[in-house]
Amino acid sequence: MFDQFALHERLLKAVAELKFVEPTPVQVAAIPPALEGRDLRVTAQTGSGKTAAFVLPMLNRLIGDAVVRTDVRALILLPTRELAQQTLKEVERFSQFTFIKSAMITGGEDFKVQAAVLRKVPDILIGTPGRMIEHLNAGTLILKDVEMLILDEADRMLDMGFAEDVQRLVGECAKRQQTLLFSATSGGSALREMTASVLRDPLHLQLNRISELSEGTRQQIITAEDTAHKEKLVHWLLANETYKKAVIFTNTRVQADRLYGRLVAEGVKAFVLHGDKDQKDRKLAIDRVKEGGVKVLVATDVAARGLDIEGLDLVINFDMPRSGDEYVHRIGRTGRAGAEGLAISLICHNDWNLMSSIERYLKQRFEHRVVKGLKGSYMGPKNLKASGKAAGPKKKKDDKKKDDKKKAKPTAKRPKNAKREQPSPVVSQDGMAPLKRKKPTAE
Ligand code: AMP
Repeated sequence: MFDQFALHERLLKAVAELKFVEPTPVQVAAIPPALEGRDLRVTAQTGSGKTAAFVLPMLNRLIGDAVVRTDVRALILLPTRELAQQTLKEVERFSQFTFIKSAMITGGEDFKVQAAVLRKVPDILIGTPGRMIEHLNAGTLILKDVEMLILDEADRMLDMGFAEDVQRLVGECAKRQQTLLFSATSGGSALREMTASVLRDPLHLQLNRISELSEGTRQQIITAEDTAHKEKLVHWLLANETYKKAVIFTNTRVQADRLYGRLVAEGVKAFVLHGDKDQKDRKLAIDRVKEGGVKVLVATDVAARGLDIEGLDLVINFDMPRSGDEYVHRIGRTGRAGAEGLAISLICHNDWNLMSSIERYLKQRFEHRVVKGLKGSYMGPKNLKASGKAAGPKKKKDDKKKDDKKKAKPTAKRPKNAKREQPSPVVSQDGMAPLKRKKPTAE
């Protein structure tokens, strides 16, 4: 319950109004130390409830004192316009019973209009680094009174080349009392450097994003021969699955455009989102999907970062993501805040090893599904056949030997037609049982 936190009653009222009942793990971990004024370094993905984890303590700080303000008191820096819009919405929802004012400054919007907004001095300013720097340079933005600074999706800001801009903005907030840094991944050396230079004696909170993933989302794989086969599978799934909204991920822009073209040609109402699209197209695509006018979005990873679409309950990996982290990012978009979701990865022969490595990373087994009439001929390595995971073509003797060598056990022979025991599910680090290994299911 949210009343476990020492939050102002007006914030608790907003939480109740929004029908948030149970705080998510990141909220449980981050809100108390943030309320105590500690600097935090939090690893948590979009979809985990991380926004409320920093917005509530921020509002609590601002609501408390009757300070006469002349400049911005809290700054939220984040990588994309979409994330800024979502965050502003969340801030406004939580501050609805207070007098706290917030505003957003991102690229792609009228500079003069933004300057006018800044003249009214919002308490909380949310935005992307590039445009903030332009306002600093023009003298339309003053950050010297910022008390609290949030760097959201800091890893992504670094990926996008904002390191210098972020450092400059952080430097402008010289009098700040508290800084919270959130990132979806544990990041590399650049993020470690930023953490060291920006945070003071931070508390590190590493939320197990992987275990959160499995809570509301079923994860399946379907094998395919090639791209054309995958396209047929997508068409079948969109026609036969029950879903409110779906996103289909591809690894390249070219593939995203191609698939989008196919879907539209088949009469599916869809939008495509990738790095070549300008802000206007992106906004139109996201708005239409959010409103429900369009149910299907084809997207690349970069374009879909930070996307939070309510009711998104189907994710299809047209291409297998290249890493476990990327998989978590994609799948984390569905099954949010306890909702049900379905994630289906389409696997060609040469994706199998990548898929297996992602399974190992997640400490989970994907359910193997077969679509009748569209069955792939490759069903995985032969040694998985008996465990019910896959039934595939015979392997060469040499391969089989290698596989057998890899397996440390069992050593005892089992009668040919004896039922093999299901392997017990691996238990992930925090003790949550992942999805069980399932037999292929035919449609
Ligand atoms: P976020 O990770 O901040 O992008 O949050 C993902 C979605 O979950 C947003 O739509 C939030 O409004 C929602 N949410 C966050 N915390 C909770 C909660 N404790 N209960 C229900 N929904 C939540």
